[in-house]
Amino acid sequence: MGLDVLVIGAGNAGLCAAITAVEAGCSVLVIDAAQKDMRGGNTRHTRNLRAMHDAPTDVLTDAYSFEEYFDDLMRVTKGLTNRELARLTLEKSAELTAWLGERGVRFQPALSGTLNLGRTNAFFLGGGRALLNSLCHHAEDLGVAFRYEAEVTELKMDDGFCHGVVLTDGEVLSAKRVIITAGGFEANLEWLAEGWGDAARNFLVRGTPHNRGAVLKSLLDQGARKVGELDQCHAVAIDARAPLTDGGIASRIDGVPFGLVINRNAERFYDEGEDFWPKRYAIWGRLVAGQPDQVAYAILDAEGVSRFMPSVFTPISADTIEDLADKLGLDAAATRRTVDAFNAACPDGPIDQSILDGQSTSGLTPEKTNWAARIETPPFTGYPLRPGITFTYMGVEVNDRAEILMEDGRPSRNLYAAGEVMAGNVLGQGYLAGIGMTIGGVFGRIAGAEAALRLNRPNNSTVTTKARA
Ligand SMILES: Cc1cc2nc3c(=O)[nH]c(=O)nc-3n(C[C@H](O)[C@H](O)[C@H](O)COP(=O)(O)OP(=O)(O)OC[C@H]3O[C@@H](n4cnc5c(N)ncnc54)[C@H](O)[C@@H]3O)c2cc1C
Repeated sequence: MGLDVLVIGAGNAGLCAAITAVEAGCSVLVIDAAQKDMRGGNTRHTRNLRAMHDAPTDVLTDAYSFEEYFDDLMRVTKGLTNRELARLTLEKSAELTAWLGERGVRFQPALSGTLNLGRTNAFFLGGGRALLNSLCHHAEDLGVAFRYEAEVTELKMDDGFCHGVVLTDGEVLSAKRVIITAGGFEANLEWLAEGWGDAARNFLVRGTPHNRGAVLKSLLDQGARKVGELDQCHAVAIDARAPLTDGGIASRIDGVPFGLVINRNAERFYDEGEDFWPKRYAIWGRLVAGQPDQVAYAILDAEGVSRFMPSVFTPISADTIEDLADKLGLDAAATRRTVDAFNAACPDGPIDQSILDGQSTSGLTPEKTNWAARIETPPFTGYPLRPGITFTYMGVEVNDRAEILMEDGRPSRNLYAAGEVMAGNVLGQGYLAGIGMTIGGVFGRIAGAEAALRLNRPNNSTVTTKARA
């Protein structure tokens, strides 16, 4: 067995692992199911990562303390997280931008879109694709080998030891250490249906079609310990006209807080103004998934439409609510009734989207508790919405060395995991924008360093795996 480290999956987590291992002197092969020009899975679609910092840095403003980050994580997960691994993730996030910068990744000032993340999140110049290209070039320069269109169907394991990685054509690869960075199973609608029922068949996949969970399934079938629940995931409301996979960021609809959202029966079903959009956008995929046929419609007027960044699809517009309903395939009279009832319940006065303005409807079920403004200025616009799944949380349990734990609690002897495939250790539910890339970067580096350490390769990297006590 000549190869030191085999990395399965060439996204952010895999590249961080591969680079760390090669820098420590290991021979490294990275394989990926995708063809070369589609390499990098969901990482291709990303824009930023969330990093702790005690003072302004060259890429982040102000400060974002460990305590604040930890509180944010506890709030969104409602405490459903492995606290030790969460602490490790947050603490190590402070090193990430400098580490990536030293390996060719460039950052830019925060985009001033709907999510307002300038203080907490570092934005990649050129987005996730540019990050991937920089990391791939750096890895290649250091001698990492890459193989594309190499899809793993299963792992050959014996008592927690992986002695073979089987590809679709039957070829078996082996290495002393194997790092699993093959993403979640969000593109496997059949598997999702086991948790979501038939509703999953109407989901759209925001990212790569390749994250189908074959490696995860093989691990779980052979005694790796499961973390997270089958139906926990990040899912947003996206334009129903988006393609089945890889629609990316441009299909997300951010106009929900500035209009109303109705289901197929023209009924409202949730408070569109519950909180600022960055704190609520990630629940709307699940909300739409709960509606008949997993479809909903955001309805706005000319004033509302001007308040957010539009999606890539042409808005569907009409001069009257009835005509709009016709174009959307909704019952015109029922839609009119819902809009009229909403308008009658709206307060007078302008809304202020920069604050939770308390401009609430009164007498509706459910109320819209902020930014309630009448839908009265034509043209009226509608966006059909579907649940867009970003990534799944059910994965394999790991320890603070990124080693995969087996059912008896012992770590595997040569298997590590990083990124989406183990994100559920930190994210039991909920989401904090930018933490997906942080989890992958932190655990990718740890996995690469630990694999090298176990092979007695000196590790020059600054990464340590000691969590904050
Ligand atoms: C539209 C969109 C926008 C996002 N924006 C952000 C953002 O701005 N910030 C953020 O933190 N997160 C964001 N995310 C989430 C983020 O993409 C992920 O958390 C992160 O990229 C995961 O990295 P990864 O390396 O674990 O997986 P990936 O980047 O998905 O890489 C997994 C790789 O494994 C390969 N693979 C899968 N199965 C196999 C197999 N059987 N054999 C071989 N190879 C296989 C895939 O081809 C893929 O290249 C976004 C996701 C989407 C879809």
